[in-house]
Amino acid sequence: MSLDMSEASATFKHPFDSDKLHEECALFGVWGHAEAAPLTILGLHAQQHRGQEASGIVTFDGARFHSERRMGLVDSFNSEAILFHLKGAGAIGHNRYATTGDTILRNVQPLFGELATGGFAVAHNGNLTNAETIKRELVQRGSIFQSTSDTEVIIHLVATSKFGPILDRLIDALLKVEGAYSLCALTPDGLIGVRDPLGVRPLVLGRLGDAYILASETVALDIIGARFVRDIEPGELVRISAYGIESFKPFKPAPHRFCVFEYVYFARPDSVLEGRSVYAARKKIGEVLAKESPANADLVIPVPDSGNPAAIGFAQAAGLPFELGIIRNHYVGRTFIQPKQEIRDFGVKMKHNANSALVKGKRIVLVDDSIVRGTTSVKIVAMMREAGASEVHMRIASPPTTHSCFYGVDTPERSKLLAANHDLEAMRRFIGADSLAFISMDGLYQAMGEAKRFDDAPQFCDACFTGDYPTVLTDQDMGVNPRQLSLLAEKA
Ligand code: SF4
Repeated sequence: MSLDMSEASATFKHPFDSDKLHEECALFGVWGHAEAAPLTILGLHAQQHRGQEASGIVTFDGARFHSERRMGLVDSFNSEAILFHLKGAGAIGHNRYATTGDTILRNVQPLFGELATGGFAVAHNGNLTNAETIKRELVQRGSIFQSTSDTEVIIHLVATSKFGPILDRLIDALLKVEGAYSLCALTPDGLIGVRDPLGVRPLVLGRLGDAYILASETVALDIIGARFVRDIEPGELVRISAYGIESFKPFKPAPHRFCVFEYVYFARPDSVLEGRSVYAARKKIGEVLAKESPANADLVIPVPDSGNPAAIGFAQAAGLPFELGIIRNHYVGRTFIQPKQEIRDFGVKMKHNANSALVKGKRIVLVDDSIVRGTTSVKIVAMMREAGASEVHMRIASPPTTHSCFYGVDTPERSKLLAANHDLEAMRRFIGADSLAFISMDGLYQAMGEAKRFDDAPQFCDACFTGDYPTVLTDQDMGVNPRQLSLLAEKA
């Protein structure tokens, strides 16, 4: 079996995207459909929000694996030549968001290895918290790493496992890793989907005719007309093959700790994750926030687009008009050529502009999903004042982000998080608002349909708000991974 690769050129990050947390990856998998590659392109396209810097697709045609990995948006796969090349009824795909340095092609997933059991391609959403430690051991024993991706650790562990069948090897490998992972893997015998025992990252199962689909989010099923079957359960491994679907629970049961930030910001609002509509959850957050922290104001204005549902919920609960007081320029994206510094200093207006005719003389409530460094909030509050708003009250649809994420989300190191170093009043002064409030932790849990946060057994991962990490952080504790995914600090 052989693997063909092709490459393409890079795109650029928009500078104003740097004050948001970023999801790392989207997964998609198909088994048993003649149009596996086009379906995968569509599935990745629907999940482009989870990663915009690179995409990859691996297909299997019954004899050979084929692969395309490209920098930039998944649109670049839409060519006859690529579709002709990506033959087969089985496919997996991946969108990547890089955390540090430049994305380089050898880190673009799915990663592939020719193992004793045959070809093995794997795509990963999440982050392994002991990857660097394992990698050092493997390198000591002679493993040669091709990429700087933590996902390659899984391939090496599978390759060097003492077990025979690929499924046993994969389970053996996953029993050695810590952290968060949802995986799609492609082998000559079928498609494999896995979620880590805590179920930190999402993975859903769908059907399209006789074919099976795996995806990070349900929107990827919607776009191809597939039927949602169920979430892959935390700690569940499914194998989809000519024999249908088999489910395995190879890991020690663990408390469920789904990432609550998926509901706050990462996932698309039209997705349903773990039985909850993301849109409904965001709207509910806005309602709870309005009850917890009302404001004397004339209008409720979202910071688009991620603040929209929470702002609607806030406005409805507060009995205030919801208005679009900030207009987003959708044409400033990741293909934007980075401007010179003096042009960049025009600031946030390149992406967001105040609707001056609406806000002039008004007391406004600005609703945003989160505050990371706070730099964007400063610019947006200033922009609303320049546009004539008489008062600006900021309401945030998540608790203060005080800790870094080690589970596959690009967060600044802790010292750069505004809430890690400032109390509420200092944050208010920093962003220049007349008042500032965050939803409380219990309020967030209530918006998720829970009575409260059970501090001795939290129902979600909320570590970026609490520092209560649900797994050990081996690399961090050993000082070999001072920042998440430092393993990925690319030196091409
Ligand atoms: Fe999600 Fe925050 Fe947990 Fe990371 S630390 S998995 S962003 S809740």
